[in-house]
Amino acid sequence: MARTEQLATLNSEMVADKTLPLCESNLVFGEGNPGATVLFIGEAPGARENELCRPFVGRSGQLLEKLIGELGWRREDVYITNIVKRRPPDNRDPLPQEIEDYKPYLTRQIEIISPLVIATLGRFSMNYFLPLGKITRDQGKLFPVGKLFVYPLFHPAAALRSTGTLDDLRASFKKLPAVIAKCQTLC
Ligand code: URA
Repeated sequence: MARTEQLATLNSEMVADKTLPLCESNLVFGEGNPGATVLFIGEAPGARENELCRPFVGRSGQLLEKLIGELGWRREDVYITNIVKRRPPDNRDPLPQEIEDYKPYLTRQIEIISPLVIATLGRFSMNYFLPLGKITRDQGKLFPVGKLFVYPLFHPAAALRSTGTLDDLRASFKKLPAVIAKCQTLC
């Protein structure tokens, strides 16, 4: 089965799975190039994402898209999703159990897309792959994790609150093409 069909099947399975937490919110499965080299993974959808059932379409998403554009890429070239695929109430942080409950689906989503690099957005996503990671220390560094490479980045929402964080996020983003080239030589 082609990747697009496999992702559509996984999406349907998630919709049908009423044991998942946060089922009062819409499912925001993820979108983009099913064969992307880079997979961006955020934390959980916000209000706008819940409304449109699309990841990163609010203010954070606009910044993410801008930074992708500054690399000469289009949003459709990459794949974008979240570790938790439904909006937690009042934009609270996702709970460890929620992250755990969505894990089997994220695992399969990653297997289907099979990216070279996972660029994590924010500390929750980073700690999913690197439990001992510290975002201020580790953002912009490359980590081999199993067959994959994980490249932690600040969350765009944090960059909207601080110009220093925005500068760091932009600088780390600019290194992405070189990061990809390096991963290609390592695997
Ligand atoms: N923040 C996230 O972590 N994910 C989104 O999809 C939107 C905002």
